[in-house]
Amino acid sequence: MTRWRPKSVRVRLTLWHLAALVIVLAAYAGGVFAFVRHSLRADLDSRLQEDFERAEDAFSRNPDGTLAWLVGDRDAEPTDPDVVEGPWACVWDANGRVLYRDPLAPAPVTAVVPVPPARPVISSVKAPGGRWIREMSGPQDVAGARVTLRVARSEEPVRSQLRSLLAILLLGLPLASLVAGAGAYLVARRALSPIDRMATAARRITASRLGDRLPVDNPDDELGHLATVFNETFSRLETSFEQLRRFTADASHEMRTPLTAIRTVGEVGLREPRPEAAYRDVIASMLEEADRLNRLVENLLTLARAEGGAAKLACERVDLAALAREVVDHLAVLAEEKQQVVTVDAGRSVPITADRAVLRQAIINLLDNAVKFSPVGGCIRLEVTVQPQHAVLAVHDSGPGIPSEDAERIFERFYRIEKSRSRDAGGAGLGLSIARWAVEAHGGRIEVQPGAQGGSVFRILLPNR
Ligand code: ADP
Repeated sequence: MTRWRPKSVRVRLTLWHLAALVIVLAAYAGGVFAFVRHSLRADLDSRLQEDFERAEDAFSRNPDGTLAWLVGDRDAEPTDPDVVEGPWACVWDANGRVLYRDPLAPAPVTAVVPVPPARPVISSVKAPGGRWIREMSGPQDVAGARVTLRVARSEEPVRSQLRSLLAILLLGLPLASLVAGAGAYLVARRALSPIDRMATAARRITASRLGDRLPVDNPDDELGHLATVFNETFSRLETSFEQLRRFTADASHEMRTPLTAIRTVGEVGLREPRPEAAYRDVIASMLEEADRLNRLVENLLTLARAEGGAAKLACERVDLAALAREVVDHLAVLAEEKQQVVTVDAGRSVPITADRAVLRQAIINLLDNAVKFSPVGGCIRLEVTVQPQHAVLAVHDSGPGIPSEDAERIFERFYRIEKSRSRDAGGAGLGLSIARWAVEAHGGRIEVQPGAQGGSVFRILLPNR
């Protein structure tokens, strides 16, 4: 069985409010009714008690031994307990003989007391017309003799007051609930209206309008807090979208250059018949461009995996000094081509915990740049040292150095200081981004400073553990 559940929070709030209110009102009405009934009954009973206690002086004995009741303020005519409230009285002697019977009293009052009660008892009886009478019977001293006395009063005034009260309560409860329900609905609608506005504003925010924000009426209340949190999320999304857009635009731009070069070289090569050696040159230069494209795609994939969180580090114990020497050997050919001298200054082994392949790539990128940007015959020095907190690998080169305003930006993707020259050198501006990611993934940091004798010094600082 599926439970009915209104879709709108507004209706649900109203119904909960209404249910709570009906329960409270019903309990309150029940309490009021019980209290009034108790106090009206207690009042009637105390009047009966008074009648009973005053009876001693209210009777006089007739010469024939019967009694006369000295009540002067009663209307002698009607006997209908609906109209007349009493009091009425009857008196029996110890043998059950009637000593006094109120001529105006309704039937149940005059009925014989089957067994005279030992002490006064109060009870309600029903008169033939369906009306209720409250009576008190018990032993009492009347005109010098011990008798059984019964005094009675109509209960109808009490009952009719209770009926009116009940009618008012029963009529008032649904009315009050109706008014309160309408009020609760209006309050809920007003309280939730910012959500509607937020939903409308959120619907308008699309990939092309990520700059829009949700309205924040009051930043200190719960809804304002929610809108603020959403707005912060939108800001982050906007930044990511912008980065993605720039990345895609830059990546396509970088790919177009080698592709155009391949195409142009091919077209020029085919324009007229050439000797075999010329074709070889054409193919060689096309392969060179294809290589560049290949490197670019590989770098892009590395960055995409790194940023998507897919690249997991496989950490092991690595000797940073040995790794530095290994990278120098790996790039020795490039340095030799430019007659550069590359030295490694790493006295002893420097063990750290790292992903060997990832860290190696970072060092390759730094040394590759050092070779690329240092002049022919220049000097490059790799230095591995240990500080209290870090193991440090520094690459000193004899290149043109990095202008201070570019020092931070060179680590951004596709950033090159002199675009045309460094593209000629083969780079797309991704090498340092990859190096930075690799170092930061190890909990370290990368920085660049001007070298003491010109050039620049790139430093990788890794946690010493
Ligand atoms: P690229 O692949 O183009 O070298 P990088 O991200 O490695 O890209 O470097 C970004 C830019 O920083 C380079 O284009 C270059 O302008 C500058 N750069 C990097 N390393 C050096 C260096 N050792 N000396 C001078 N400039 C450098």
